[in-house]
Amino acid sequence: MLKGIFPIEKFKALETPFYYYDVELLKRTLETVKKESGKYGYHVHYAVKANANPRLLSIIAGYGLGADCVSGGEIQAALDAGFPASKIVYAGVGKADWEINLGLDNDIFCFNVESAAELEIVNELAAAKNKVASIALRINPEVDAHTHAKITTGMKENKFGINLSQLGQVLDRLGELPHVKLIGIHCHIGSQITDMAAFRALAIRVNEIQEELEARGVQVENLNFGGGLGIDYYHPNHLPIPAFDNYFAVFNQLLQLRPGQQVHFEPGRSIVAQCGSLIAKVLYVKIGETKKFCILDAGFTELIRPAMYDAYHRIENLSSDEEVEVYDVVGPICESSDVFGKDMELNRAHRGDLIALRSAGAYGEVMASQYNCRKLPKAFYSDCL
Ligand SMILES: *Cc1c(COP(=O)(O)O)cnc(C)c1O
Repeated sequence: MLKGIFPIEKFKALETPFYYYDVELLKRTLETVKKESGKYGYHVHYAVKANANPRLLSIIAGYGLGADCVSGGEIQAALDAGFPASKIVYAGVGKADWEINLGLDNDIFCFNVESAAELEIVNELAAAKNKVASIALRINPEVDAHTHAKITTGMKENKFGINLSQLGQVLDRLGELPHVKLIGIHCHIGSQITDMAAFRALAIRVNEIQEELEARGVQVENLNFGGGLGIDYYHPNHLPIPAFDNYFAVFNQLLQLRPGQQVHFEPGRSIVAQCGSLIAKVLYVKIGETKKFCILDAGFTELIRPAMYDAYHRIENLSSDEEVEVYDVVGPICESSDVFGKDMELNRAHRGDLIALRSAGAYGEVMASQYNCRKLPKAFYSDCL
């Protein structure tokens, strides 16, 4: 087992549970993203919702990425971290007036509009400020992402996006609204997508949509393919950086771009997931009739993905080299869904052992809650421990 990547001696002095971020790995990941997207001149906007930790945001902003936001709070966090407003895109099915106004006041790059009703309000609020809002229509391309039902978004009659069948109506109305300007189309089909066939289908579908748009005399300057690239939760040590080369190459191979057209992406998980681990301590080992439970001081209040999405996280005992045993690894929260993994293989566990829940940098710290009146977890970084 590979334990060398963790400064275990230093961990012993820290109060658990906490998040630990490998800043080196984050930087290597960002360099890869820059290099691979740069080959084709693609624009990358980091999806802030994956992890809005201010230190990570400022590192990511430092690499010149834009930000993909889904709330006014995220727009503010992105601006505070140094992302330029000119590289901020803003999606979300339920944008409140103050959030739209915040985007307008900062002249963000684009509102990704998700319904006809929203289009009217963006137009109205922009008119009140005597501005023209740049918008992209978020379209449901009806491409199946083949991922968990709770994280698929690109199919018909989803709360997200505009159905293809209603696109014509929306475009007609758009033509009548003077304070919104159509600059692009946007799609986001889901998350943790590991099968490139889904992205191939998306690229081909967008080619078709472009033809439909042109048949109506509509041209767009920007194509935004959202995020969704998955990571390898089973092999965080061997595959710490996702295959961004293959991912961007799919679009380069298949897209039929018009002259001057710009291509955008919004990766979240693939940038931050592998650099983060949740570090916890074993409180008790409880021996049942047929099972052993390894009870941690971290629960779904710190990492909700297993409870919410049935997600797998690799779990390592950093303190033990003893024989591997099989445990249900659970948290202390008073809910039976507070289970990190059933029948997990772990080096024999003892009270006080340090446990790492790997690949927790995305949708981890940012989803933490104070349920059961717990404290929010702190974060520590490999370069300043
Ligand atoms: C969640 C989300 C993303 C990021 O998804 P990942 O799977 O983390 O890459 C990108 N764009 C939009 C609109 C989203 O809602």
